Amino acid sequence: MTLQEAYQYGQKQLKNANIEDADVDAWHLLEFVTGLTRTQYFMRLQEPLASTREERYRECIAQRCNHIPLQHITGVQEFMGLEFCVNENVLIPRQDTEVLVESVLKVMQPGMHVLDMCTGSGCIAISLAKHSACEEVMGVDISESALKTAMVNAKKQDVRVKFVQSDLFSQVEGKFDVIVSNPPYIRTMVIGELEEEVKLHDPILALDGKEDGLFFYRKIIEAAPQYLKQNGQLYFEIGHDQGQDVKKLMEAAGFADVTIKKDLAGLDRVVFGVYI
Ligand code: GLN
Repeated sequence: MTLQEAYQYGQKQLKNANIEDADVDAWHLLEFVTGLTRTQYFMRLQEPLASTREERYRECIAQRCNHIPLQHITGVQEFMGLEFCVNENVLIPRQDTEVLVESVLKVMQPGMHVLDMCTGSGCIAISLAKHSACEEVMGVDISESALKTAMVNAKKQDVRVKFVQSDLFSQVEGKFDVIVSNPPYIRTMVIGELEEEVKLHDPILALDGKEDGLFFYRKIIEAAPQYLKQNGQLYFEIGHDQGQDVKKLMEAAGFADVTIKKDLAGLDRVVFGVYI
């Protein structure tokens, strides 16, 4: 089998299995198995693929046909220009979440203390530590296995993040300039309707925002004032239809200048405000 035949085989298999981005995924898996860049691939179309690699490629394609997320096959996901290790214990970092990180980066100043509540893979905490001159970043999660992955990621990116296992704020001490969170926010009833890649392979703990999807926003908004310095800021990622609800919750709890920000698709994605 030549490289070109392998790629065509991958595309066809994934299309037949109704995988949405069949061509893109077939390429990424070929890249993963061969280590070739796209340019190198086009220069070597007719070269044979070594049999061990061909076997590996067929295995990867078969996994993807079974709706295993691409990132669980390759073990990585890029976020904010950094490569993160991912597995079934953490939510795969989403591009939408970059809007949240970019919003926080705009207000970051040297010496700030930042808390990332529900850190998962650590993608938010680690990106903030990497791309700003903050003094301390703390990443909190209830899941021990998620924190293990987050620690691997911090080491990989060579940044210092203090990870704490805690049910929300129960084990958190100190006061912060910024609290940021992308908590679980899907309504329980809706989880069954999500695509297979998400509902079967992202951890349910990272998705389920309970009955109305707002459970964690309420809890975090209620506790945050105790953990924020004066003029401290709270930043959330939200679902596209949760902007007004979360804004109202923040205003009712005494937050000012509460603002809703859209993502690149034009959907409400971030809510933030300041605690005076
Ligand atoms: N904060 C992590 C992320 O944005 C995990 C979010 C979650 O588990 N809901 O990827």
